Amino acid sequence: MPKVNCPNCRKILFYRVIKDLPYFPFCSDRCKLIDFGAWMDEEYRIEEDIGNDGAKCIDEKGEGNDG
Ligand SMILES: [Zn+2]
Repeated sequence: MPKVNCPNCRKILFYRVIKDLPYFPFCSDRCKLIDFGAWMDEEYRIEEDIGNDGAKCIDEKGEGNDG
């Protein structure tokens, strides 16, 4: 019987056909979402890091100063 480790929680999943695992290669919808979120976050961070071309930190204070 083929088996696969859930990339997120390392749980061993046995299956006969891929269709046995609706969230293949994950054990559950939850693990799938967590893993997806993890790489999304990483990708976002990298993009943020290299995408620093001309972008400056602007602090705007939208406070009306009376004077
Ligand atoms: Zn899992």
